[in-house]
Amino acid sequence: MRILLVEDEPSGARFIAKGLREAKHAVDVATDGIAASRLCQENDYDAVILDVMLPGKDGLTVCRDLRAAGSDVPVLMLTARDAVEARVQGLDAGADDYLTKPFDFRELLARVRALTRRDRRPLAPERIEVGPWRSTWPLRRSGPTAARSN
Ligand code: CA
Repeated sequence: MRILLVEDEPSGARFIAKGLREAKHAVDVATDGIAASRLCQENDYDAVILDVMLPGKDGLTVCRDLRAAGSDVPVLMLTARDAVEARVQGLDAGADDYLTKPFDFRELLARVRALTRRDRRPLAPERIEVGPWRSTWPLRRSGPTAARSN
């Protein structure tokens, strides 16, 4: 999957990006909110991991702008404080889930997996190609429901 990581803290960004790449994800990193918004316009990400406290434009505003522009990309918000208020603000801004720092990296991976399983796009037939298969299947939440015939 292609993931945008938005984190201004260099060591945190390096750590998360390295782990995501080890999990076979393609990762772009933005270190401020303005770059994050621009990258989201230019690229089609499968998920965005978004820190709240960012220079230029905070994560809540980045998320609100994404939703206002009609994007339904899954957003995992990283909140620094374990405060109800911070989590409520993130969800209200259009985030799908949140994780409080410091977190266990395995939990971040699990939450990204859960977010990207939820296909919230319209269930329209879509042409997909997977290995030897080339067909038009209705895509469901769990992905193509094709039985392999052999
Ligand atoms: Ca930050």
